[in-house]
Amino acid sequence: MAPPPRLRLRVTAVAEKLIRGGHPWAFADSVNEQNRAGETGELAVIYDRRDRFLAIGLYDADSPLRVRVLHAGKPQTLDVAWWRMRFQTALDRRAGLFDAQTTGYRWINGESDGWPGLVLDRYADALVLKIYTAAWLPRLNEVAALVRDVLQPQRLVLRSSRNIQLTASSSRFGWRNGQDLAAPDPAAPPAPAVDAPRDLRGTLTPPSTVQFLESGLRFEADIVNGQKTGFFLDQRENRRIVESLATRRAVLNAFSFSGGFSVYAARGGATSVTDLDISPYALDGARRNFALNRPLPAVAGCRHLQVQANGFEWLAQAPPQAFDLIVLDPPSLAKREAERERAIHAYRQVNGDAIRRLAPGGILLSASCSAHVSAAEFTGAVRAAARESGRAFAELRTTGHPPDHPATFAEAQVLKAIYLRF
Ligand code: SAH
Repeated sequence: MAPPPRLRLRVTAVAEKLIRGGHPWAFADSVNEQNRAGETGELAVIYDRRDRFLAIGLYDADSPLRVRVLHAGKPQTLDVAWWRMRFQTALDRRAGLFDAQTTGYRWINGESDGWPGLVLDRYADALVLKIYTAAWLPRLNEVAALVRDVLQPQRLVLRSSRNIQLTASSSRFGWRNGQDLAAPDPAAPPAPAVDAPRDLRGTLTPPSTVQFLESGLRFEADIVNGQKTGFFLDQRENRRIVESLATRRAVLNAFSFSGGFSVYAARGGATSVTDLDISPYALDGARRNFALNRPLPAVAGCRHLQVQANGFEWLAQAPPQAFDLIVLDPPSLAKREAERERAIHAYRQVNGDAIRRLAPGGILLSASCSAHVSAAEFTGAVRAAARESGRAFAELRTTGHPPDHPATFAEAQVLKAIYLRF
């Protein structure tokens, strides 16, 4: 049987202009012509109104985000050499960013590195490949082979976002969440040990946690089950700033997850740090991360406390205790555009509550990872809360994405932060 003709489509004039300008998405409702039904994972070529090549990308039949652009501009064949070059470009972009004291960082940041819906993170000798669209499923063998060939990781763990079901029964490609792709042959003979846990292939299941370094500090990440790929690597620069601000301060790490900010604050000379999180699993990780760094005198000399509570409610209660430095990094409050207004309001509320907990001279680092709330909207909400407090305050700085998390278009600018001193 002859292969089906290449999937071709046309999009609205508005979408055409956006794509020509470098935007990497074509939404389903902007597709106005298509030569046949497409299958998730195949390549789709977008033509402009004059029938000229506009872009080529990954087709996703089940997502409103119908095509994720891989290449726009002149016609291009996406052969092995092209993929290799695309990968090398991402690696080159990180050249010189990290020394041996930092072994956890991002090699590929999705669309902004030309790999739409795909993330590759390094944790020492382990790599985590996380996909956010099923369109990568038919290509995972090639991607894994390329990554293995160039970086030779000890482990290459596959993860998928919650919207993609990666179970053997639901995926005809047979990929499993947490599967290790570091071995080229999945049918490798089973290891001989008896009592160790085994995965479905009968091989030994390696631990789900790995240790790595960030700015010389030791951290553990659960690369199989943890949020994101196991650690919030994008907060590294803010953590470094917090270290420089923490001397002799009582620090609250609100929405602490595994306590990254806490360990930096401790090394920076904080007298105490308090982790606040709703998840006992996160707090366990934070305890272990703190303990991993106790050999450092500053960390050993810092009191480490934890509160397991709903952070929004805990902060809203009457303040029995004031802090000198508060890190406020709640989970995304707007996962959809419809939640934007409410999220802005919630930021104002929770920041107001945090400010009430700040001692005179106290510093607030307030962060947002809500994709649908812009930096201007977020910083506006925090400044409004600061004004409403009636206290005098100074704005120290704002920050965005670190260089290993480039954001080349508005929707990719997820992380924003602002520092205020009262
Ligand atoms: N600052 C962290 C990342 C925070 S992620 C870091 O740099 O690593 C958001 C955290 O908020 C998660 O750990 C999650 O468990 C926690 N969380 C979510 N909802 C919460 C709530 N209502 N109260 C307290 N913590 C919550």
